[in-house]
Amino acid sequence: MKKLFLILTILLLFLLGGCQTKQDTVTYNGMFFDTVISVTVYDTPKKTLEQDIMEFCRKYDNLLSRTNPESEISKINSAQGNPTKVSPETIEILEKSIEYSQLTGGAFDITIGPLVDLWDFKKSHPTLPDQKDIDEALSHVDYTKIKIDKDTVTLEDPLAKIDLGGIAKGYIGDQLKTFLKEQGIQTALINLGGNIVVFGEKSDHSPFHIGIQKPFDETGTPITSMEIRDASLVTSGVYERYFEFNQTLYHHLLDPKTGMPSQSPLYSATILCESSAQADALSTACFVLGVDQSKELITQLKDVTAIFITDDNQIKKLETID
Ligand code: ADP
Ligand code: MG
Repeated sequence: MKKLFLILTILLLFLLGGCQTKQDTVTYNGMFFDTVISVTVYDTPKKTLEQDIMEFCRKYDNLLSRTNPESEISKINSAQGNPTKVSPETIEILEKSIEYSQLTGGAFDITIGPLVDLWDFKKSHPTLPDQKDIDEALSHVDYTKIKIDKDTVTLEDPLAKIDLGGIAKGYIGDQLKTFLKEQGIQTALINLGGNIVVFGEKSDHSPFHIGIQKPFDETGTPITSMEIRDASLVTSGVYERYFEFNQTLYHHLLDPKTGMPSQSPLYSATILCESSAQADALSTACFVLGVDQSKELITQLKDVTAIFITDDNQIKKLETID
């Protein structure tokens, strides 16, 4: 059913021909980062903007995607402990990722790759991994093994694997915002597979209303919505990638301490803050940590709101204001 929904969405995007104009907005659609993306601008853009956005996204896909064997991340992962020279963008996202690992006490860890491979939520007939395989994969999950020296990255554990699934869309969202501003765009809504970034003022000065998905609802009905300006809203939800086995739901938000899908009694964790990289990393981490430990984390930060949907569909909100 989920697949059908995605196929219908993709079909619709093709029928729309990639670009759509409504009142004084223009929306560009594409498929990148394993998901559907759209960028709506509220200005009169130059003719080449669509092509420029697509090229921009392709560039980041080619740097950071683990499914592309030619990407810089794949090169680091297959270097068998040897140093790999990479671009400044790759260095920047790795440095930010390490910062979020430190901040979250390892609940967010981009060396989660061996565990993601083992659980493989994309395969058609998923099975439960053996405990010994989980233990083996877990022994290679450790962000302190990523060593960065200027433009060179080394994975000290040759079997470690970087997976940026928990932060890439957020980081790219921030980069895309900067890029659009450089192109003269004053107001836009960026949607990278549900990672939202908005900036600027609409002509009627109203805020952007962004919905938080009702868990497992395929019609796209929001459970609640937020009014946002110049900020990013990112959700990590169990319903995005999961399988069921013996009436238990196994999802893609993995606890780096146990090697299992996090046991937090949650359906989703959403973060609202200025930086989308931060919102993305923290949404994954807060899901793994659960409400109480997230409270300790969020109170250390400025201007961050966390919204949790518990597994009995209650909404819980934590907020820190500068
Ligand atoms: P998405 O919105 O694409 O589902 P999320 O931000 O919710 O992504 O993060 C989930 C993805 O992040 C997983 O698919 C996996 O690639 C990676 N991941 C899973 N657990 C962790 C973790 N504890 N720390 C960092 N990344 C993780
Ligand atoms: Mg995330």
